[in-house]
Amino acid sequence: MREYYEELKKYGKVKLKESLTKNTTFKVGGIAHFFIEVTEEEKLISLLNFLNSEDIPYFVLGGGSNVLFSDEGFEGVVIKLQTSELKLREDNEIVVAAGVLLNKVVNFALQNKLSGMEWGTGIPGTVGGAVRGNAGAMGKENANCLVKVKIWRDGEVFELDKTECGFGYRESIFKNNKDVILSAVYKLTPGDEKSIKEIMQTYLKQRTGRFPNLPSAGSFFKNIEVNKWSGKKEDLPEIFWERGKIPVGWLVEQVGMKGFTIGGAKISDEHGNFIINFSNAKQADILSLVETIKEKVYNKFGIELEPEVKIIN
Ligand SMILES: Cc1cc2nc3c(=O)[nH]c(=O)nc-3n(C[C@H](O)[C@H](O)[C@H](O)COP(=O)(O)OP(=O)(O)OC[C@H]3O[C@@H](n4cnc5c(N)ncnc54)[C@H](O)[C@@H]3O)c2cc1C
Repeated sequence: MREYYEELKKYGKVKLKESLTKNTTFKVGGIAHFFIEVTEEEKLISLLNFLNSEDIPYFVLGGGSNVLFSDEGFEGVVIKLQTSELKLREDNEIVVAAGVLLNKVVNFALQNKLSGMEWGTGIPGTVGGAVRGNAGAMGKENANCLVKVKIWRDGEVFELDKTECGFGYRESIFKNNKDVILSAVYKLTPGDEKSIKEIMQTYLKQRTGRFPNLPSAGSFFKNIEVNKWSGKKEDLPEIFWERGKIPVGWLVEQVGMKGFTIGGAKISDEHGNFIINFSNAKQADILSLVETIKEKVYNKFGIELEPEVKIIN
């Protein structure tokens, strides 16, 4: 292990036995054996090549806002992405490193009077996390303005066009492979600063009070396509048909589980798709709650819920 420590120091700041509770919005998880903060893309690539060649397990962490670690921690290297490149190119394109916070990009676009990133207002996490999960809000998503991404794949670095990323609702190929997103290019449209700001403020207002203020990883499950509904059409609110999605929060409410607790984990009173860590929850508390929700929703509606949050056992 000592020799690994010496090697890892070449790529960034290494912390031993770093708490994952401290580094995730859920505030759950044991310790990472090695935790390395990487600020430069070149070093990130070299580090990935090293870990890959030595067969050392690693996990790429962005803002930690969509992950649930085990209380046993992570027996390998957690790579905390802190790459920071963010620049404006010709043709209203923004090039941004994966480690940059999404909200920084939203504000950068505003400063440059560019519209298209407003959907990201208030979404925690980094660009890398947003690309992987095709993050979105207010009916818009990352894929709407993304042009291409630069990735590391099994020792090689190359670009993928947006059409090669398999984007769908909270989906991409990156959810099912081991690619590491290095940077992204977004193409925006010139806009009026005041109007962009107004949209951002409206979005922020809509988010305020809707989401609980306690530790969570955002919506735990993906919302459901309306075509999965096998009940009577009139039993589903019209707005869901219009939007094409059944909010999981509504399903949870229908099975009477809002406010339900197991150990330190609770289904939020405000939002049925938010599981909150209200009192030193263990991963096991959250996973028991998840199984109970899945079972109740399946028994009542025949709908299978799929987690949006990345669970690391
Ligand atoms: C209060 C709250 C509100 C939220 N609201 C929204 C919302 O409105 N819309 C929405 O879509 N999401 C929302 N989320 C969820 C979360 O913020 C997003 O999923 C976000 O994009 C995750 O980014 P991250 O950097 O925190 O990813 P992390 O949590 O660090 O990682 C998530 C996954 O992405 C992988 N990953 C991270 N970076 C990279 C990379 N560079 N290359 C490859 N894989 C990578 C990780 O390995 C992990 O599997 C919310 C979360 C919270 C806590």
